[in-house]
Amino acid sequence: MIESVYIEEDVRDHPRTLEILRKLPRAEVQTIQRYGELFNRKRQNFRLQKQQPALILARKHANHVLSAPADYNIGGQHNFYFSHLLNCVYDCRYCFLQGMFRSANYVLFVNYEDFFEQIAQTQHTLSSPGWYFSGYDCDSLALEPWSGFAEAAVDWFRDHPNCHIELRTKSTQIRSLLKRPAIDNAVVAFSLAPDPVAQALEHKAPSLEKRLDALRTLAEAGWRIGLRMDPVIWADNYEHVYGAFLDQVFKGLPTDAIHSVSLGGFRLPVDFMKTVTRLYPEEPLFALPMTQRDGMVSVAHEREQRLLGFCRDGILKHVPDTRFFPCQPIEPGAAEITAPG
Ligand code: SF4
Repeated sequence: MIESVYIEEDVRDHPRTLEILRKLPRAEVQTIQRYGELFNRKRQNFRLQKQQPALILARKHANHVLSAPADYNIGGQHNFYFSHLLNCVYDCRYCFLQGMFRSANYVLFVNYEDFFEQIAQTQHTLSSPGWYFSGYDCDSLALEPWSGFAEAAVDWFRDHPNCHIELRTKSTQIRSLLKRPAIDNAVVAFSLAPDPVAQALEHKAPSLEKRLDALRTLAEAGWRIGLRMDPVIWADNYEHVYGAFLDQVFKGLPTDAIHSVSLGGFRLPVDFMKTVTRLYPEEPLFALPMTQRDGMVSVAHEREQRLLGFCRDGILKHVPDTRFFPCQPIEPGAAEITAPG
């Protein structure tokens, strides 16, 4: 799958680099000075590169842990994110990474211990447990067979119970989690979408059924699970599509294991939206009526509120509102808004 690996000179002999190379015996390997010389180069074509991304192994030198945006909240007071990996094996048409990065190559920072050290230092400044979100600039588990990140993280967080981690994913690569006892300070959160939406927009990602199977297996093994319905995507028959979806999701999952459910609409910063529509001008998603506000583009307000309101009402039939975390305001009677979008 990965044909080319670029390695920063600095991590050429890092044990994790050597282990990854052992798993990719056929890859062509080249040494570079700093990952940015490749990753941030101008005039790259994200769409073309996405067909066969290279893997770049690098060291993260600073800013390992950053404050999370306000909509990244699943009940904690202190929220942070960290990115040991940039980019993703999947190819979701709504993904903000394709608007943010010039390159579709994967950058894996192999110095995981420096991330953990920074998390410990951050936590030291807090009076209550902090949440540390992995999977902000990547999928937390999709590269696990090569990266071994989740297993390293779980082993570290087990010894640091005041630090809480969310692993966010669409991947069924859960073997390394199942090999370990579940820990209370981790949530394995799956991004979920109705099958018609997933098939149209979440290219290369596992089907909804496979994601639900993985969630069930994790829950049975004692892991706390999270459901991320973000973004929900407008369809004229949204009541049918999202009604069936919510039934399917909640029918087979043990409610007690569900730590949190979050819900958000499709939204991108204006600049990212310009980039992705240039990359995929034929994509029907970008032809939906949109609204621009506060530097963000989103689906036209009335449609978005109707869809979000419908989903919120459906979710709250299955989980209490203490476990429900909307990523944006949803008006009280949103599901009944009748104005045309
Ligand atoms: S799974 Fe997440 S990170 Fe990966 S392409 Fe889809 S939206 Fe982006």
